[in-house]
Amino acid sequence: MKKVGALDQALGLLGWDQHTMMPPRGAEARAEEMAALEGVLHDLRQDAHIERWLVDIDTGRLDAVGAANVRETKRQLDRARRQPAALVTELARLTSIGQETWAKARRDKRFADFAPTLERIVALKREQAKCLATTDTPYDALIDTFEPGTTTREVADLFGRLRGPLAALLARVVERKLEAPRLGGPFPAATQMQLARLLAERVGYDFERGRLDASVHPFTSGGVPGDVRITTRVDENDPINCLYSTLHEAGHAMYEQGIDGRLALMPAGESVSLGVHESQSRLWENQVGRSRAFATFLHPLLSERFAGLAAKSPDELYRAVNHVQPSFIRTESDEVSYNLHIILRFELEQELIADRLKVRDLEAAWNDGMRRQLGMVPPDASLGVLQDVHWASGAFGYFPTYTLGNVYAAELFAAARRDMPQLEGQIERGELAPLLAWLRDHVHRHGKVKPARTLVREAIGHEPTEQPLLAHLSAKCAELYGV
Ligand code: ZN
Repeated sequence: MKKVGALDQALGLLGWDQHTMMPPRGAEARAEEMAALEGVLHDLRQDAHIERWLVDIDTGRLDAVGAANVRETKRQLDRARRQPAALVTELARLTSIGQETWAKARRDKRFADFAPTLERIVALKREQAKCLATTDTPYDALIDTFEPGTTTREVADLFGRLRGPLAALLARVVERKLEAPRLGGPFPAATQMQLARLLAERVGYDFERGRLDASVHPFTSGGVPGDVRITTRVDENDPINCLYSTLHEAGHAMYEQGIDGRLALMPAGESVSLGVHESQSRLWENQVGRSRAFATFLHPLLSERFAGLAAKSPDELYRAVNHVQPSFIRTESDEVSYNLHIILRFELEQELIADRLKVRDLEAAWNDGMRRQLGMVPPDASLGVLQDVHWASGAFGYFPTYTLGNVYAAELFAAARRDMPQLEGQIERGELAPLLAWLRDHVHRHGKVKPARTLVREAIGHEPTEQPLLAHLSAKCAELYGV
């Protein structure tokens, strides 16, 4: 299984390289390389030895780590068996090349240029979902890829409970018609990157076991504690984008860096789920980064470096990073409208996988959904249906984990605050090691030893619900908007 883990990491590195260093003409060969490696992994995961070993193992004598390794090995074997090798390699090839096609179509703002590729991807994902399905709802199997054990029904129920309160809160804020605080400028790219590095270090990201580069979309790569890389992007008009993307990715990366090193490359040493992964990025980006205490810490660092910064006090910075205003772009959305973007994507991809929605009608369905959920229609596809890479990369079933992450982040931060009465003062002073230690202990180190929901329940002391997230957003909007 360590061999499987090692090859999986190598595949991850090829992906990292594709998005940071690879020259444009490398795309075609890279697709072949990744498909070949995916094929090797597919065979290895169902190697005849594995099944024999699983039969021979005396599971009664296993400790928690051993039991998790066996459970996850069985899961990998079962999932590999259910999918024909041709499907796996074709998906790897098509989604690798598909991301290049998507990027170009997005630049040109032409959904029609990407639609034929997406149609093939959706057809393959539909087939894959059917192969993997253990319920009547094939889409369940796609969610299960990223959030093991969670079903479409559970996500739909959660989203049903979030949608009303979020839409109502958003409507009340929009009614106030408060103008977006000006950021000022200029914000030179090199200075932003230098400050991003400093912030990542300050929250506890270990550069001895990672690195920070620039990419079109910020991401984290690497699933062994010794090498977890992050990227960010720089917009010279808006330092918040770069700095908060860095906080977000550092949150992801610190999770991977914090998994017990003795579990490295083993199934039990993987992150437990994408929802828990996202809880770590959101916790640092939103619960910490968008708090008044963090604005107090961050403001002098910004004003020292950027003489043109319009926010003249921590309070003004706090308002600027928390401005609520519906946006076309998910990744640039405020905390209130963000989850409405996710709900839209969740609905559309269910329809695509169930074949109730055709790819050729997707752009219209997207625009219609935006009108209903957020009251705005994107002027072109790059601000609409083409904005996210997920579908091009075949990641159907991924979007729900973002909102799950927001829900878990609010629960975990509330629990950390209960356990740590000094937390707010520590954040103000930029002393973030105690919070990281709490997360290491309650979340990171466990890897995949226990299931995601058990992990969160044990960390917070009860079943997780959406209430802390809604309370957090209501309190913030009450403070900033008087609604
Ligand atoms: Zn994330």
